[in-house]
Amino acid sequence: MLGPVILAASRSDKMRRFVSAAPGTKQVVDRFIAGETVDQVVPVIVDSADKGLEVTLDVVGEDITTPEQATAARDAYLELVGRLKDLGLGERAEMSVKLSMFGQALENGHELALANVRPVVEAAAEIGTTVTLDAEDHTTLDSMFAIHEELRKDFPKTGCVIQAYLFRTEDDARRLAANGSRVRIVKGAYKEPASVAYQDKPEIDKAYVRILKILMDGSGYPMIGSHDPRLIAITQELARRAGRKLDEYEFQMLYGIRSDEHLRLAAEGHRMRVYTAYGTDWYGYFMRRLAEKPANLLFFARSVLTK
Ligand code: FAD
Repeated sequence: MLGPVILAASRSDKMRRFVSAAPGTKQVVDRFIAGETVDQVVPVIVDSADKGLEVTLDVVGEDITTPEQATAARDAYLELVGRLKDLGLGERAEMSVKLSMFGQALENGHELALANVRPVVEAAAEIGTTVTLDAEDHTTLDSMFAIHEELRKDFPKTGCVIQAYLFRTEDDARRLAANGSRVRIVKGAYKEPASVAYQDKPEIDKAYVRILKILMDGSGYPMIGSHDPRLIAITQELARRAGRKLDEYEFQMLYGIRSDEHLRLAAEGHRMRVYTAYGTDWYGYFMRRLAEKPANLLFFARSVLTK
């Protein structure tokens, strides 16, 4: 019950101000956010690489309100690519982007987001890596998939994300599995109405497995974004049945969540990519992490109250 309430709060400016200013917030935020600046995230990337993990880097921020902010988002990612190049880590580190941060919701947002994300995808390709387009709320997805298709004409490794809770996703999965895309499958983290999305966890999990099967049987590269032990075991079995080798799919988990499992899967020879978020505009990302696990909210409340 708490999840939808927290997700509603994630859209409230009043709550944003309250949570951001609360004493004790930083301590909890630090569990999920790897740093505020590129300089702070670099040691985390290096440490992950040393442990045999890959990363996908997310400069947090979304729902911007001016074209200048969209340009700043582009520049933040270009700065990141520059650092990855200097570190020689292009092959181990990808990037994840939210098109809302590149201007998708502004006037002529589709064109603006495409124009802002393209240079990032180009720069990533130059250092031997790629970009995945995150999935946001359902109203943004037609535009996201169209941008994904457009970018893939020149950069076929550009990835995208699909969300198991949406009714539309099995069709999207079939299309993406047939055209050889890199696709991250996740359960879905936004507050969606019953007209477009399953609301019950068991229904979402069943849909996840159906979609997983479509991706495993297709010609693309499935990226399994989940911490759910049952889904991880099912992935391994479906990959085996589909005859996929260990480098023909990968697991992805979030920084700060089930870190022991990151290492266990990597030690088993799986490609394990840690979604590593950093930056100062962490509010929306942080609230989705609270919504996913009510225990996080208790921890957060305790930490605020004891400060
Ligand atoms: P759950 O059933 O939610 O969790 C399984 C177990 O994992 C829990 O029992 C708990 O032990 C642990 N766990 C899960 N979440 C948390 C948490 N927040 N804090 C502490 N423990 C937790 N969603 C989108 O809508 N769009 C995206 O682009 C997107 N990208 C993602 C990228 C990656 C790499 C991952 C892993 C997730 C992404 N998500 C995205 C979020 C996703 O939709 C889910 O909300 C999230 O992964 C929780 O679902 P789960 O599969 O881990 O299963």
